[in-house]
Order: sequence, then C-alpha cells, then structure tokens
Amino acid sequence: MTKTFDIAVFQGDGIGPEITGPTLEILKRMASVSTGYNLRFRDAPAGARHYAQTGESLPAESMKIAREADAILLSAMGLPDVRYADGTEISPQIDLRKALTLFAGVRPVTVKKGQNTPLNMPADREIDFVLIRESTEGLFYTQGRGEVTKNEARETLLITRDISEKLFEFAFALARSRKEVGRGPGRVTCVDKANVFRAFAFFREMFDAEAARNPDLQADHAYVDATALWMVQKPWDFDVLVTENMFGDILSDLGAGLMGGLGLAPSADIGLEHAVFQPCHGSAPDIAGKGVANPFAMILSAAMMLDWLGIKHDNADLRQDGTRLREAVEDVVSQGRVLTRDLGGSAGTDRAAQAVLDALFVA
Ligand code: ATP
Ligand code: MG
Repeated sequence: MTKTFDIAVFQGDGIGPEITGPTLEILKRMASVSTGYNLRFRDAPAGARHYAQTGESLPAESMKIAREADAILLSAMGLPDVRYADGTEISPQIDLRKALTLFAGVRPVTVKKGQNTPLNMPADREIDFVLIRESTEGLFYTQGRGEVTKNEARETLLITRDISEKLFEFAFALARSRKEVGRGPGRVTCVDKANVFRAFAFFREMFDAEAARNPDLQADHAYVDATALWMVQKPWDFDVLVTENMFGDILSDLGAGLMGGLGLAPSADIGLEHAVFQPCHGSAPDIAGKGVANPFAMILSAAMMLDWLGIKHDNADLRQDGTRLREAVEDVVSQGRVLTRDLGGSAGTDRAAQAVLDALFVA
C-alpha cells in the first residue's frame, strides 16, 4: 500500500497564507500523480493574528498536530504591531524549535547560471552548498538571560557533546546524500574559531571523531573569519559547512545575500524525529494581501521537505520529486520570464506558482 505522510501546515501571518495556498496546490498535484507516496495536510493555527484573536500564539492542539506529523511546513509568523503583553515578539517558530529539539538549521545556498547575484561570477560557475547552523545552544545559549551589571555584561558560549555529536552525524549524512545525487563531492567543513576558544577546540574533537566514522567522505576545518571571505571569493568550493549558532546566524545572511535576497532562500530546522521547513524570509506585512509575494522560497522549502522525508523513509519517489520541484523553480528563475517584483519582474504570486506547475507538468 502507498504510504501516506501527514504534513502539519502553519499558514502563519502576513503573506503566509498567500504563499502557502499555491505551495500546497503544487504538492497535492505531485502526490496525486505519484504512485510512491500520498500526502495529507493538517492545518495548525498559530501566530500573531491567531494570538490577537484568541490570546494564544501556539495552541496545544496545533502543537499536537506538529508532534504527530511526519513533517512540518511553515510559512512565516509574527507581525510588527502584535506583541505579547511584555512587549516581546510573537515567534512560535522559535517555540517549535525548542519544543522539538530541532538542533540543525539547514540553509542551502544556490546560485544557478543566469540567476542574479551581487557576485561577479565566472560564467561557468554555479554555487551550491549547504550551511548547517546549530540552533539550540552555542552563543545563543543565554539568549535573553545574560548577566548585566552596571559595569559588566556576560553571556555564555555552550557547546555540548550530545548536541555536537548529533549535529556532525547529521552533517556527514547530508554530505553523503548530496554526493549520491551528484550535488557535491562529499565534503564537510567544520567552521569555528578553534585557534582562540577552547570551546571550539572541543567542538572540533567531536567533528574529527565523526569524520573518522565516515572514511568515504572528506572532512576539513576553516576559521569563521576566513569562511566569510571565501563565501565571497570562491563560494563554489564549498559543499557542506557546519557551525555554531551565532556564526551560522551571520553566515546564513551572507548566504542569502549571495542568492540575491530572501525571495529564493529556503530553510529547514531538523532534529532526530521532527523537522520544520520554512522560507528564510518573514511575514512581509508591507506587501501582504496584494497578491505580489514571491512564493519560490516557500516552494523550495517544500522541495527540501520531500527530499528529507525521502531520505528518512528511504522513499526514492519522494526524493525524486524533491529534486524535480527544486529544479522546476530553478528553471523558472533562470529563464527569467516569470519573476515576482522582488526579483525584478512583474508577476504576481499565482502566476509565479503556475509557472512552476507548468515546468513540472507541461514541459
Ligand atoms: P522577520 O523579523 O519575521 O524575519 P523581517 O523584518 O526580517 O521579518 P521580512 O518579513 O522578511 O522582514 O521582509 C523584509 C523585506 O523583504 C520586506 O520589504 C518584505 O516585503 C520583503 N519580502 C520578504 N519576503 C518576501 C517575499 N516572499 N516576496 C516578496 N518580498 C518579500
Ligand atoms: Mg528577518
């Protein structure tokens, strides 16, 4: 019998519902054509608008739907004018990351031939690497709880054996799966500052141990400052980069910059059991309700979800459809005929999503 995968869907705030609708249409079409899998979607209400209406930003029922699902698809949550009573931002995506221990933040950085990038790239080059940002500890460990006195402020950098081992195991597995499909040479680079901080020498110890368990893959080290330089000078050399929380936070924005902005930047937050897939951009309230939002980052996040489900459940059809969906978006973007305003075109959300459907099913 064909397996059915349950997908929890957080439509979210602002442009969230506008980009979720067409993304689900595409996934439904792909699943209905495939004989290898079925998808079932369950709506999980949450976010700033939901908070304004009900007083809850992440209801227990939505959390339950997320926990029970095989994967979680999320658009964007939060609105500038809706906050908790104490003034803090409403961001249930961060609550999900904590509750489900999603330690690996995965940010693919791709620039295909013909795609806009601020880099002056040699014509024969393409960028295709993945940055993995540890997302539960590191320099964010004391987030909001740092010690501040009149003359001093302190925050803690926490690196644990447990999370580091899981993180590196994930990084090497990802490099192997990329190698299998010809996307990379199978190389993992540990990005740190081990020359200055003992915590990063410790980080490297776990990395080297995982590297030794994966003799079929390459492993190397790079300092974070040099990595920033190389991301601009020769980003086509990278395959899988894995790093601490704060370094990853900064480098992933650099990565989004290479891709020409947020409109094409997908992401995943992955743990041992659960995973959330969402575009890197926010809820873009300034353009919400106008039908002009770019759906590509959301669709690319959905492609990552199919790929991850395919790897986890050893389902070749899912993996194949993940690749097909990503390549369909890449084709539409590199042909440059149907682009949204943020990418320099004039197409609305629906026409952009339709172009992806056409690339999948008409071509
Ligand atoms: P957050 O704090 O939630 O990350 P943000 O303040 O970083 O939000 P975004 O919501 O990501 O901001 O929006 C930043 C800018 O990018 C806005 O001008 C927005 O309109 C634009 N933008 C973001 N996402 C899209 C999209 N999918 N299509 C078109 N424009 C977008
Ligand atoms: Mg932002």
